[in-house]
Amino acid sequence: MPEPTRCEPGTPAGEGEIPLCVPHLDGQEWAYVRECLDTAWVSSAGSYVDEFEAKLASRVGAERGVATSSGTAALHLALESLGIGEGDAVLVNTLTFIAPANAIRYTGAEPIFVDADPDTYQLDVDDLEGLIEDRFEEREEGLVDPRTGNRVRAIVPVHVLGHPCEMGPILRLADEHDLAVIEDATESLGAAYEGEPVGSLGDVAAFSFNGNKMITTGGGGMLVTDDDELADRARYLSTQAKDDPVEYVHEEIGYNYRLTNVQAALGVAQLEQLDDHVERKRAIAARYAKRLAELPGVEPMPAAPWASPVYWLYTLRLDPTRADVDRRTVHERLERAGIQTRPLWQPMHRSPAHGSEREFPAADAIRDTALSIPCSVGLTDEEQERVLAELEDALRSQGRGSEP
Ligand SMILES: *Cc1c(COP(=O)(O)O)cnc(C)c1O
Repeated sequence: MPEPTRCEPGTPAGEGEIPLCVPHLDGQEWAYVRECLDTAWVSSAGSYVDEFEAKLASRVGAERGVATSSGTAALHLALESLGIGEGDAVLVNTLTFIAPANAIRYTGAEPIFVDADPDTYQLDVDDLEGLIEDRFEEREEGLVDPRTGNRVRAIVPVHVLGHPCEMGPILRLADEHDLAVIEDATESLGAAYEGEPVGSLGDVAAFSFNGNKMITTGGGGMLVTDDDELADRARYLSTQAKDDPVEYVHEEIGYNYRLTNVQAALGVAQLEQLDDHVERKRAIAARYAKRLAELPGVEPMPAAPWASPVYWLYTLRLDPTRADVDRRTVHERLERAGIQTRPLWQPMHRSPAHGSEREFPAADAIRDTALSIPCSVGLTDEEQERVLAELEDALRSQGRGSEP
């Protein structure tokens, strides 16, 4: 473990430092939370929970929303409500934060990892198709992984970093092989694929309102779907599977996964600012893209032609054949200047907690060269200029600065 330093990711930035991605609370948060406290509606029942569920679902084009204590809980409930469990397998990006892989494991199912698209960093549809068409077998009981005998039941496309996955081919493959599609939209609230908002594209989707996401409730999540039965089932499981609220009869084992009214009050206030957050993130991304293009060996964050990304976490790549400086050096240098940056997650196939026998060259290459840089909604132009100046310095002084 490296020595923790002042600007270590995951620790609050100090005075004068520039954090990676922090909450921005600039609306009715105080008023709505105050109302919860004044009326003592602070727990998991209350009008803000209903309002937040209705407004978020409607915002992403879904019929129903079930608020949860976290995005991970929403993913777990989505999988469980679809009846996925022991003896099943679920396809998911290898290049992702660990939560969706963990949620698959909670159900007893096996995550099967899919490589990253080198152009978008999202789930690679060619690798997905190769797995489904070449490695799995269509049998009477459905699509089966012959190595394990597990039934392949679902795909979890994780829209990473605020950019959608290429949903057209994913939905086609799912349809052809009778697979459920659970969007992990936790990083991409507000983004769209061919004009359709993420969260409305699959059978069910999960959002997160953790502190660093597009909007925050401190901690929290939501499952959204058009499927009433699935939403009812998820709500039932999220409240300890209570069958009789008077007699406390439970026919199944459930969870305590509800969001509180205080958190939902924050959520309603934050949702009112989502358009502003998206607009600001896009403006930050546009400035970075323009200026980074002038630097040797730097690739700005990608955006596919069919995507309307929200640039949740602005992530550049350093081309090792053109920039002499690697992402670790740039990270350390910016850290010394009080600027927080972060590498991408260890891909799941390399994670000691998960792993895989297959190789994932694209995910490895992205992970080795990518660096996320400050992009909070509240980042000022002056702060962004400071980040750019340090990046320019780091790349010009160590890289081949004379190259275009
Ligand atoms: C943040 C995140 C989650 C989980 O959200 P929590 O609310 O922190 O549980 C799930 N998947 C991905 C890809 C995430 O980035």
